[in-house]
Amino acid sequence: RKDFIESSSFDSLPIKKWLKDQCRLLGFEHPTPVQYTCIPRILEGQDILACAKTGSGKTAAFALPILDILSDDIYGIFALILTPTRELAYQIADQFRVFGKPLGLKDCVITGGMDMMIQNSALTESPHIVIATPGRLADHIESGTEFSLNKIKFLVLDEADRLLEDNFGKQLQTIFSILPKQRQTLLFSATITDTIKQVQSISERKPFVFDGNLLHQPVEKLEQYYLLVPANVKDAYLFHLLSLYHSNNDDDDNNNVKKHSNSTIIFTSTCRDCQILSMMCRKFHMPSVEIHSLMKQRQRLAALAKFKSLQVRILFATDVASRGLDVPSVDLIINHNVPFVPKEYVHRVGRTARAGRCGTAITLVTQYDVKLMHKIEDRINKPLIEYRIKEKEVLK
Ligand code: ADP
Ligand code: MG
Repeated sequence: RKDFIESSSFDSLPIKKWLKDQCRLLGFEHPTPVQYTCIPRILEGQDILACAKTGSGKTAAFALPILDILSDDIYGIFALILTPTRELAYQIADQFRVFGKPLGLKDCVITGGMDMMIQNSALTESPHIVIATPGRLADHIESGTEFSLNKIKFLVLDEADRLLEDNFGKQLQTIFSILPKQRQTLLFSATITDTIKQVQSISERKPFVFDGNLLHQPVEKLEQYYLLVPANVKDAYLFHLLSLYHSNNDDDDNNNVKKHSNSTIIFTSTCRDCQILSMMCRKFHMPSVEIHSLMKQRQRLAALAKFKSLQVRILFATDVASRGLDVPSVDLIINHNVPFVPKEYVHRVGRTARAGRCGTAITLVTQYDVKLMHKIEDRINKPLIEYRIKEKEVLK
């Protein structure tokens, strides 16, 4: 784990002992750079603008100090966390629940796709932490749900660049308009764009800026490949790759290192591809689940739970799932299509090689995608490596 500084430990951070104990329970030994830099400053009352690559532990960087301060004076609603997707909201809630267990922490997740009335009553029961996607929270504010955010001490924008860039502008304005001026604003993001200017309009205070990209780059643990495939047989190549990484038969005669993946995510460009490919995958006796926006929220969460618990090791997903999802066992990403926006590529492959682990990303590139691939190489500032399937493997 080269990107975790060895010399410091959680003991040297100014957080309370019970939180250090929780970190130990979770197997966190050394704080990551974003954590050891931001946590003391948040505790001192500063605003934060932090940029660190995916998997660098941004969630705990805000959850730990918030819980530390909350534990001195427990009341609801203490902190509001905004995040662009439903899945991320649940993931953040999970982390708060684990850390905050000794406090009897009450949280409330407000996202689309769930019942308004149930959320309504959860909100009025004064949870300590509200984790929300902007659209649904704005709906509650506009429909007059009886809850108050005017005592919050913390506003967190997770994946801030996306929250600010996407079409969340109007909803965010609705939400910000009812927040107290006296509060700490914490912004976390994997990539930093022109957001800083917009940030200054949200918060009146000057934030402490942490830019993880300026740190010494750790040893690259993500191998990034491309595989040239004719467009008309792309799916055949996909399933061949999957069978290489997920077949159980160990009677491979060759003495090559056996390729094996703990968990794989395949990204597709459309919901329809996602559905069809996942179904085909199961027909080939490789159990899979899928996440895309045609599914009900409950189905998505159920699929994610199966995937996270390793019941199923193959997940087909549209870009809905590409942001922030954290499943430690994912060590292979396959891009069934080349993302149109290079930034999206970075987020997709960021689902693996997290927290210092190793990972592989393979992008299927057809004769039509070569330009797009070069755009990605420009963005990541290095060439993708050609992935070679041995002839023997193809014929098998
Ligand atoms: P980010 O939001 O920066 O993409 P996350 O907060 O989702 O990253 O954390 C990525 C993974 O690393 C999670 O599984 C988390 O539990 C783990 N993690 C976070 N901080 C530490 C730490 N200090 N030591 C070990 N693992 C950590
Ligand atoms: Mg995150």
